[in-house]
Amino acid sequence: MSIRIALSKGRIFDETAPLLKAAGIIASEDPETSRKLIIGTGRTGVSIIIVRASDVPTYVQYGAADLGIAGKDVLLEHGGGGLYQPLDLGIAKCRMMVAVQNGFDYEGAVRRGARLRVATKYLKTAREHFAAKGVHVDLIKLYGSMELAPLVGLADAIVDLVSSGNTLRANNLQAVEEIMPISARLIVNQAALKLKRQAIQPMLDAFAGAVAKGGT
Ligand code: ATP
Ligand code: MG
Repeated sequence: MSIRIALSKGRIFDETAPLLKAAGIIASEDPETSRKLIIGTGRTGVSIIIVRASDVPTYVQYGAADLGIAGKDVLLEHGGGGLYQPLDLGIAKCRMMVAVQNGFDYEGAVRRGARLRVATKYLKTAREHFAAKGVHVDLIKLYGSMELAPLVGLADAIVDLVSSGNTLRANNLQAVEEIMPISARLIVNQAALKLKRQAIQPMLDAFAGAVAKGGT
């Protein structure tokens, strides 16, 4: 029985490696240096595919990968259809925040009922957040470097992931509202879980054990 796991390079792969190891899965190459997109592991029949972070749910939804690891940010934008989400891995932690340029009176603008221009990669999450608050927004879709938008007059505010806050500070921005805490989740294709339960369930148990031990 073959099992394919979808992962993104960078922090997800780095923080997942110890959990994979606990499940007896060790990548035979380092995705940071290898150009290969399909990487074998020490376990026969188990391979890792390297995809963009935001593409992980898509590969798992369609069964091109049986398992994957994706941030809650990415899962909310994707919608989660066809995916079983059994486990919060407590890794790649950060917060989804609203941020503005220093000096911009966000609270005041909200109180006045002003219409806000908000730039973000996370349209769905942002739309739901401001709708729940009753704030009218014009959303502008960006694919990265959201911090720039308020500095050059593209937007009044951004919705972005924040961990240390260093990038915000370096760009004269400040977080004004937390939307939600974010961490990475294990996702499983629902059909694969039924058809390959014998292979997948022990992996889920090993991940759960490693997460519990990690004390996150
Ligand atoms: P890409 O770089 O391919 O455009 P991405 O920026 O979403 O996509 P990563 O930077 O590898 O990819 O982020 C992967 C996941 O890690 C995100 O979906 C999020 O859940 C989490 N993450 C993002 N930024 C941070 C951060 N500053 N601190 C902690 N976790 C983060
Ligand atoms: Mg990135």
